Amino acid sequence: MEENTKTMEVSAEKENTVSKHFIEQEIDKDLAEGVYDHVQTRFPPEPNGYLHIGHAKSILLNSGLAKEYGGKFNLRFDDTNPTKEKTEFVESIIEDVKWLGADYEDRLFFASDYFETMYECAVLLIKKGKAFVCDLSAEEIREYRGDFTTPGKESPYRNRSVEENLKLFEEMKNGVYADGEKVLRAKIDMSSPNINMRDPVIYRVAHMTHHNTGDKWCIYPMYDFAHPIEDAVEHITHSICTLEFEDHRPLYDWVVRECEFENPPRQIEFAKLYLTNVITGKRYIKKLVEDGIVDGWDDPRLVSIAALRRRGYTPESIRKFVELVGVSKANSSVDYAMLEYCIREDLKLKKSRVMAILDPIKLVIDNYPEGQIEELVAPNNMENPELGERTVPFGRELYIEREDFMEEPPKKYFRLFPGNEVRLMNAYFVTCTGCEKDENGNVTVVHCTYDPETKSGSGFSARKVKGTIHWVAAATAVTAECRLYENLVDEEKGKLNADGTLNLNPNSLTVLKECYVEPSLKDAKAYDSFQFVRNGFFCVDAKDSTPEHLVFNRIVSLKSSFKISK
Ligand code: ATP
Ligand code: MG
Repeated sequence: MEENTKTMEVSAEKENTVSKHFIEQEIDKDLAEGVYDHVQTRFPPEPNGYLHIGHAKSILLNSGLAKEYGGKFNLRFDDTNPTKEKTEFVESIIEDVKWLGADYEDRLFFASDYFETMYECAVLLIKKGKAFVCDLSAEEIREYRGDFTTPGKESPYRNRSVEENLKLFEEMKNGVYADGEKVLRAKIDMSSPNINMRDPVIYRVAHMTHHNTGDKWCIYPMYDFAHPIEDAVEHITHSICTLEFEDHRPLYDWVVRECEFENPPRQIEFAKLYLTNVITGKRYIKKLVEDGIVDGWDDPRLVSIAALRRRGYTPESIRKFVELVGVSKANSSVDYAMLEYCIREDLKLKKSRVMAILDPIKLVIDNYPEGQIEELVAPNNMENPELGERTVPFGRELYIEREDFMEEPPKKYFRLFPGNEVRLMNAYFVTCTGCEKDENGNVTVVHCTYDPETKSGSGFSARKVKGTIHWVAAATAVTAECRLYENLVDEEKGKLNADGTLNLNPNSLTVLKECYVEPSLKDAKAYDSFQFVRNGFFCVDAKDSTPEHLVFNRIVSLKSSFKISK
């Protein structure tokens, strides 16, 4: 017995280690070796745009690790570059991070709050002979830097004395020099095989107003110098970033070491998340917004977090998606269908299944009493009785989907056609008796008769029917607009045209203006979502829907092309 328990424990432990990703393994190692005694992570967005699904991965990874290890997670705006930042983006980023459920408690920071510390670090480097003021122009610096095959050349200003450097750097700070006239560079190694180590620029002169510090500074630190200091100041332990920074790691380590931070943070890189068939490039999205092809950065066809939220995605579905994708060191693209799978799974049992007709045609039950309305009881979700029941009005005239009637049906068509009997969901059996057409031969009204004995829930079992169709009673129907979406681009057809413009899917948006939904949806509010029987999951649009004019976004259809292998 005891033996058994032990084996189970061992295998559980083993399973735990096996399922841990490489970052968790690194953290385990650091904690075991006493490199750190706690875990602190951060998400460091630059406030220069809206966050997208890739950022969601980074947010959930960082906040998730802090939670897993009983540590802390910071939200820090990397606002060291005064040209691009906008308060609008700061606000939207905070909203998105909160919505995703990443809890930074009271730790909301701005890198610009550390400008003083960064300046002091730079002075320290100068005093240690590890930084110098350089008068070369940006172009000359580039030339001197060399490339992968040619080693760099040392700047003629590299051997200025500490005193001279201190004086010049202070003058840089005091506004004596124009933009580009002088820079401060780290003194590392011009012959390093890693170009990032060839005396990188760490401060530049820029006479610009900063959104936080105003005109206090006219010198600004470069990213590779500022970022490690920001992490160190906040006592970050694991600075998790994407792969393109791998070659910058030696510089990161150099900065925290030479600036003499105790217990400095370490950088760990993981692969960016790429999704197929979506557009994430800011430049492209900006153009789509400007050209009016999408109605903003939160257009439901985009994958900014704001767009996903508006489309009807939930934080839970995004968390599930990020978990399924996992953390890896190799760049790869994830199928968009996997994201759809996650939202379907999340909503399946949580949401009511209601009736809505997207492409309506009238169905008249000729033997049903005129003017009579019956309140029929319908379960909200057959697979989840906890969601309860609601009543749905039924009457003589209904709307059904146009595709649910065919005058001359093909084989295996079990819906309405003359002479055929079907079940009206949650209601009665009806037998089709014919239809009316307009002068062009289009069907305008379908006729049928009902059998009062067959009421749903009455236990009627004398005969069965093969088809069940959904409906909405005409007298009480609520008119709604439904927007159906397809991806904006298709990877297989090529995302770009020969001229570099986007190869857009002309069918990415279909607007259905005259849909009918059951009256239980009358008071639906922004972000409320439902399963519309057979038509998919829909969410009330937060931008355009009003109580007088309901607008629904289709989040996802019910059918999936994506299979998860278990
Ligand atoms: P983009 O250019 O796509 O807007 P970015 O890297 O410029 O992305 P930042 O605000 O600088 O955006 O990034 C904040 C954090 O998000 C960084 O740590 C970055 O590594 C991470 N990140 C950005 N894109 C992705 C992605 N596709 N997958 C995972 N993490 C990402
Ligand atoms: Mg960036």
